[in-house]
Amino acid sequence: MSLKVTVVGLGIMGAGMARQLLQKGFEVTVWNRDASKARSLGAAGARVASSPADAAGDADLVIAMLAQDDASRAVWFGADGNSGALGAMRAGAIAMESSTLTVGWVRELAAAAATRGVGFLDAPVTGSKMQAESGALSFLVGGPTELLERARPALTAMGSSITHVGPSGSGALVKLINNFLCGVQVASLAEALAMAERSGLDSRQVAHVLSTGSPGSPLVRMVAQRMVDRAYAPNFFVPLMAKDLAYAQAEFARAGLPLESAGVARKPFVAAAAAGLAESDIASIIELLRAR
Ligand code: NAP
Repeated sequence: MSLKVTVVGLGIMGAGMARQLLQKGFEVTVWNRDASKARSLGAAGARVASSPADAAGDADLVIAMLAQDDASRAVWFGADGNSGALGAMRAGAIAMESSTLTVGWVRELAAAAATRGVGFLDAPVTGSKMQAESGALSFLVGGPTELLERARPALTAMGSSITHVGPSGSGALVKLINNFLCGVQVASLAEALAMAERSGLDSRQVAHVLSTGSPGSPLVRMVAQRMVDRAYAPNFFVPLMAKDLAYAQAEFARAGLPLESAGVARKPFVAAAAAGLAESDIASIIELLRAR
């Protein structure tokens, strides 16, 4: 059986995911708050819905790719708690959250889905714009195996790796642990490259040393290049990393683990957003150090 799939949230990530589903032959419905972002997907064959409820009513699988908890709550629940995507879904259909969210909100959403007879998966992703646009995301899935198996064809269309990490909420938690480390790496990398520049070293050469040596994670390799090129077209917006680090800090604190490095790493993302870089890529945080 071919799944009818809805994607709500057509930002950098959601647009690429919806396009991959279309290209791989799924019947796709899309919705975005700013309707202009849905136009090109409509032209490519997606049905463009007028509201989250309109988008979700007929779907076997509804995928959300939204900025943060408040956006997710607004889209799934609507203004009055029942006028959003979830309230319109058929019993037996699957709601899937792929945004990076708090574990608490994801579990609340899973419980709300259960009371309506709707299945729920938390399936956030690693990978960025390029992976979303090429169907090469990695999904971190929390929830029942049976639901994952039903959703798997759609996940396979959007991703090259699907890891079932545990029960509901586990995907959200692993994603926060993952992005905690990403945020710390990017904040440290900005300091390292700023120091190279300040000292009159060849920053391209230093970026190469860091990228090909022990610190050279895929993220460090990618972001180091953008920092030396001063190429800040957004792959991952600055405020979203500040959000991820705040969510990680709160989650770790609940487990009795003070996340001090995340607190320090978050500061340049908050400062960069306040300094006019909110619409820029995370690599742009190095500009704050260049300006000092
Ligand atoms: P984005 O381009 O900023 O897109 C955010 C989406 O959320 C847009 O569709 C936006 O709608 C929507 N939105 C925000 N507030 C809303 C509200 N109150 N009501 C309804 N919709 C709202 O961000 P993105 O990069 O695609 O990221 C989406 C999610 O994936 C985030 O949770 C992010 O942390 C996570 N993520 C991102 C990356 C990455 O590399 N970019 C990688 C992995 C995970 P409008 O267009 O109308 O503003």
